[in-house]
Amino acid sequence: MNDSSAEPSEDEPRDFIRDRIRADLESGKTSALVTRFPPEPNGYLHIGHAKSVCLNFGVVEEFGGVCNLRFDDTNPAREDEEYLHAIQEDVRWLGFDWGDNLFHASDYFEQLYAWACHLIEAGCAYVDDLSADEIREYRGTLTEPGRPSPYRDRTAEENLDLFARMRASEFEDGAKVLRAKIDMASGNINLRDPVLYRIIRAPHPRTGDAWCIYPNYDFAHGQSDAIEHVTHSICTLEFEDHRPLYDWLIENLPVPARPRQYEFGRLNLGHTVLSKRRLVKLVEDGHVAGWDDPRMPTLTGLRRRGVPPSAIRDFIGRLGVTKSDGLVEMSYFENTIREHLNSSAPRRMAVLDPIKLVIENYPEGTIEELDAANNPTDETAGTRKVSFGRELYVERDDFMEAPPKKFRRLAIGQEVRLRFAYFVTCTEVVKDSDGNIVELRCTYDPESRGGDSPDGRKVRGTIHWVSAAHALPAEVRLYDHLFAEEEPGKSGEWLDDLNPNSLEVRTGCLVEPALAENPGVVQFERTGYFCPDPDSRPDALLFNRTVSLRDSWAKDKGN
Ligand code: ATP
Ligand code: MG
Repeated sequence: MNDSSAEPSEDEPRDFIRDRIRADLESGKTSALVTRFPPEPNGYLHIGHAKSVCLNFGVVEEFGGVCNLRFDDTNPAREDEEYLHAIQEDVRWLGFDWGDNLFHASDYFEQLYAWACHLIEAGCAYVDDLSADEIREYRGTLTEPGRPSPYRDRTAEENLDLFARMRASEFEDGAKVLRAKIDMASGNINLRDPVLYRIIRAPHPRTGDAWCIYPNYDFAHGQSDAIEHVTHSICTLEFEDHRPLYDWLIENLPVPARPRQYEFGRLNLGHTVLSKRRLVKLVEDGHVAGWDDPRMPTLTGLRRRGVPPSAIRDFIGRLGVTKSDGLVEMSYFENTIREHLNSSAPRRMAVLDPIKLVIENYPEGTIEELDAANNPTDETAGTRKVSFGRELYVERDDFMEAPPKKFRRLAIGQEVRLRFAYFVTCTEVVKDSDGNIVELRCTYDPESRGGDSPDGRKVRGTIHWVSAAHALPAEVRLYDHLFAEEEPGKSGEWLDDLNPNSLEVRTGCLVEPALAENPGVVQFERTGYFCPDPDSRPDALLFNRTVSLRDSWAKDKGN
């Protein structure tokens, strides 16, 4: 167990938020740490959210305390039951547990309404009849102060009556709002009488038709934190300017606790978008197959792609928590995924673009069962048997008719090792009437069984293969960045930056039979990391590429 008075050890994460928490616990300012992750159920979680999940749940793992999962369900027009379930599944998948501490801002609607009335009674809030456009116009700009609404000086009595009638559904959507009465000349625009409640006649996923007025985020957020006795309310930097408003509300309301808000820099990842509004657009307009399309930066997409949750946690841990928004290269994330899979993923052989190879001096009808290591980096992963025969398939691009000097694979007269099997030398190619190579003819050295050199001679390279008689057909999906531009929309329309080649479907691939047994994420030797798609069936195998073996993007795109 941690000794709370001890200095953090070197491998413990350190950042300004953890330092603050540590100090608050040591000084006794905080007796029991309470954090929360507060998603709006209006979309699936993406890897940016994972940063907030890992931070809020992570500090509780490190310092003790509880982290609530609180749905910020204050806008029924955009929310959906589907998202409530998906978000819980994704947080659990990342490896975190909120125990019994599942809450909803909608649990507090009655209390929030009472607090709104409290503000009205104190002369700190009023009902405004200005339209949304007028409110915007009256608000002023960064350089000009705002102007007061003509309804700003209604009496508390009139406001209470109007607010009750808003609740009783007497007015149309948008006809009235409740606003805080703060300061129309404030240098902080968030303090220029912000809207607290609006009329939205939409059924709510949890409260149904009970309400037609809803608190907005700014009113619900801090008060929900107070109700839950959240001690450290951690959010992203764009809310820094809202903090004075949250503090004003807490000052002016009889809340049971005083949470403090701390802001950190959000995660931005290159070659993708991390905004729910944009992700919804990609799904709704069919640019991707759904929220779980493996090209999506959503947790459900990453899961379908085969990314282990441990790699996501590790990636986020390495980024650290800072006070500035930065752009992280996708290749950095992919490298972390590779590192995790390199040690954990079993090796298998799969040929994505097969060409037949016939070993002329290998006895017809003979099948050998050869031993293949499951993971050369991990002896405990053991070995498996692979069937070997006279007719095999290898990758088309592992052969060249007129190879350059440095070509270390098959060519006429050139000897290579077939992984785990034998040395073979290509003797001849067979072509069809159009001149396409359809078959490679080889001879093998029977003394090289297992791929070992019989006399110390060296071969130029090692290639993978599958047995023609045993291999299973499969479809393989190769994914590339969803956006060709590192910062979509940086110059021009963000959708124009979609990568037209983000998905390449390979049919007619051939894989070793062990891959029919739903293996989880595997390394296809020499090709990359792959996992079976949930739609994969024994008679129609389907694999997704999680990540290639190397970062090919930098090289291919010439940067
Ligand atoms: P988006 O900008 O994608 O629409 P959001 O902030 O509206 O996201 P919420 O559901 O409100 O989505 O987010 C829940 C929590 O996740 C918030 O505390 C928010 O600050 C945090 N969060 C959202 N995006 C990121 C990100 N890219 N990096 C870090 N934290 C994030
Ligand atoms: Mg939000």
